[in-house]
Amino acid sequence: MLVRYSLVVSATLVLLLSTSIGDTYGEGIRDVPNLYEKANEHFMIGEYHEAIELYDKILEISPSNAKTSLMKGIALDNLERHKASILEFYKVNQQDPKNITALIGLGVGFGNYGEYKQALTYFEQAYELAPENHVVENYYEFALNTVKKYPYNEAEKPEIFTLNIPQTVPAWIKNTAGWWATDKIPDEEFVKSLQFLIENEIISVESSSKAESSLGAIPSWIKNTAGWWATDKIPDEEFLKGINFLIDNGLLVIDLPEVQGLSEEKKKINDRNQWEFSRYLDRIQKIVDKDKRYIEYPNPSNDVIKKFLRDYVKWNYDQQIEVGNQGFPNPEYVLIDDVYHLEYKIFVNDQPPALPLDHVSTLTNSFKMWEDMEFNANDGKKVKINFVTTNTKTNANLWVTWVVRDLGEGVLGHANLGKGIVEVALGGYGCDGNFQLFHVNTVEYIMTHELGHGIGLRHSEDPNSIMYPSMKNTQYAYCMLDVDKKINTGSIVLKKD
Ligand SMILES: [Zn+2]
Repeated sequence: MLVRYSLVVSATLVLLLSTSIGDTYGEGIRDVPNLYEKANEHFMIGEYHEAIELYDKILEISPSNAKTSLMKGIALDNLERHKASILEFYKVNQQDPKNITALIGLGVGFGNYGEYKQALTYFEQAYELAPENHVVENYYEFALNTVKKYPYNEAEKPEIFTLNIPQTVPAWIKNTAGWWATDKIPDEEFVKSLQFLIENEIISVESSSKAESSLGAIPSWIKNTAGWWATDKIPDEEFLKGINFLIDNGLLVIDLPEVQGLSEEKKKINDRNQWEFSRYLDRIQKIVDKDKRYIEYPNPSNDVIKKFLRDYVKWNYDQQIEVGNQGFPNPEYVLIDDVYHLEYKIFVNDQPPALPLDHVSTLTNSFKMWEDMEFNANDGKKVKINFVTTNTKTNANLWVTWVVRDLGEGVLGHANLGKGIVEVALGGYGCDGNFQLFHVNTVEYIMTHELGHGIGLRHSEDPNSIMYPSMKNTQYAYCMLDVDKKINTGSIVLKKD
């Protein structure tokens, strides 16, 4: 039996408050970290309606809070409210086109409509930004396959309005930096020019910022950096990197409402694009209905669980487990050169047809892990294990199957000791409160562990051993929260919209 560590869901939320914000917000903003934490508690047990109600309260106080929008978008997606979900992710995408979770959310949303080309454009962007992220990779692969598989009538795309934003640092900011470096202007003046940089997205503020501090804490090296930059000794990027570092580490708190002009203009354009985008989604919905479009959902988790429940006995050997392993034949062995060669015949169960993840082929790795090892027999001789697969259950020493039924709180697999049943969970509810398929590597890891029991091994107390009774890192294949676990943990940064 393999037990998962319970995920750390609640985390300390640090509210970022610069002195002047406090008064403007009144009481509302102080409730935000609390609201966010409560909302996420509901979310993690699948109470999405309750969670969304609280996310909406936060978004009323702080409409452009990206973390909240992302959580709301995922909750809406889990409720199959595709349009609302897409619009929520779109809002984040407008503020931060490189937010990977938002890109994935958009791709999943369009995929849920069967608008695969549009889905692919988002998954592609995410893949370019994070090719090593397994969730991103799975969705990108999905889109590549479905685009080729299902032809469809594409909806007309919206016109996207843009605002011309200076991408380089204006000269006056450089002058300001120079004056600040030589103490000709106070900190506040310099900070105002930084506000301009943030407002115009020349510096992007990370949503993971934490800690609070006042201007007094600006380290002296940044003044040097500003001075070098003002005299062209270092390029723009170096200077911006320094400022970004200060903001991300909470050493510099920038109060944003002071520079509003451009932001108003930008907000108007964002609203207009959201409106166009919403009409676009309506057009898609119309075509989907009219064409009776067949849709393959990007996240197959729900289909897999449905197929499992429909054909329960095919995949579940729970009755057999209760009977025990007495009916199973013992593995055969031969003694060659003082080494026992033990041969395990394995019956490998099918996988449900809706499952795009290939777990059967990863069995080879699990087999090899044990085949490469040497064990000791009671008589002091060495033992080597060899696995062969068989199509008949009756002569098999082990039956291997992948299951989705509830194995018990946090339990990821079961196995009889020495021979009998080996069953491994295909997914669980631990990522976002919905059933989610595990990442292939996670299933392989559990399988190797359970196979260890299958050949007679007990648990190890060594945390680095595969036979250690719990698993540190359970990864999911399609769960959007697995793209960036920081979203539902860590601090929440608020700025005035
Ligand atoms: Zn175990």
